[in-house]
Amino acid sequence: MNVAVLGAGTMGHGIAQVTAMAGHDVTIRDIETEILEDGVASIERNLQGGVERDKLTQAEADATLDRIDTTTSLPDAVADAAFVIEAVPEDLDLKRDTFADVEEHVDDDAIIASNTSSLSMTAIADALDRPERAVGLHFFNPVHIMGLVEIIVAEQTSEETLAAATDLVEEIDKEPVTVTDTAGFASSRLGVALGVEAIRMLEEGVASAEDIDRAMELGYNHPMGPLELTDVVGLDVRLDILEYLREELGERFKPPQTLKRKVRAGKLGRKSGEGFYVWEDGEIVGVSGDDGR
Ligand code: NAD
Repeated sequence: MNVAVLGAGTMGHGIAQVTAMAGHDVTIRDIETEILEDGVASIERNLQGGVERDKLTQAEADATLDRIDTTTSLPDAVADAAFVIEAVPEDLDLKRDTFADVEEHVDDDAIIASNTSSLSMTAIADALDRPERAVGLHFFNPVHIMGLVEIIVAEQTSEETLAAATDLVEEIDKEPVTVTDTAGFASSRLGVALGVEAIRMLEEGVASAEDIDRAMELGYNHPMGPLELTDVVGLDVRLDILEYLREELGERFKPPQTLKRKVRAGKLGRKSGEGFYVWEDGEIVGVSGDDGR
């Protein structure tokens, strides 16, 4: 099957990798060649890591890379695609515009999926003339490691679309959970609630960033604390989600000042080199500012 992935960022390149590993031909589209090159370089690194850990052979890694193409042209990316998965920034208007653009260039029976982590899938689907082919495929970061995909059923999603989405998720070796379209779905609402409270605790001086994270890692067996996870997700991505959840669910999701300030300063977490922690080559090398604040 031909699959188009729109966006080569944190999520897009991961989605492209796992889809190509399942044997599909994948075209990634982003707005700049440089971003596409970075995305492919990340895929190469992930695959090489997999080879070193005996998760796949060198031949499988090479074949996966061979199945991945890149382009800056939306029409070229989606022309032959049976499945389109968008992973552009978390902005409702951008997602709706992207869906409408895709529909102009894609086959009538192609499925159009969004990797939104919290926006209304029903509102995104509404941008299509044939909204029954829209569905949410909420992957988790890092995509090649995490086993879950939430399938978000919009008001308009047809049974056939849901069945095709479930098949794709199983083919790429992930576990699907099916969720009705509600703000924050099953996972983001709880995950973001934990992250936002951790930032407020940091602001109130309850404990240092490292100790807040350690409390969840060692006390609750979370593989990663909520502040480190916010860095990995991207502070800008988290801020967008919070603003939306605040609108839908109320003031308990009000974004903390510290988060806004860091985003304004370009401290976006692991991808920019600093968030609550300082990062080098994808690893934490220190704590940002005054104990993470
Ligand atoms: P990102 O900023 O890392 O990547 C987004 C990419 O989209 C960028 O490379 C940007 O250049 C590109 N882009 C912008 N406009 C575009 C367009 N019109 N066509 C194609 N590409 C375009 O963001 P991300 O973290 O990968 O998030 C993407 C989506 O995935 C968001 O909806 C986010 O909520 C969701 N998501 C993110 C995570 C996470 O942990 N980061 C987890 C699950 C879901």
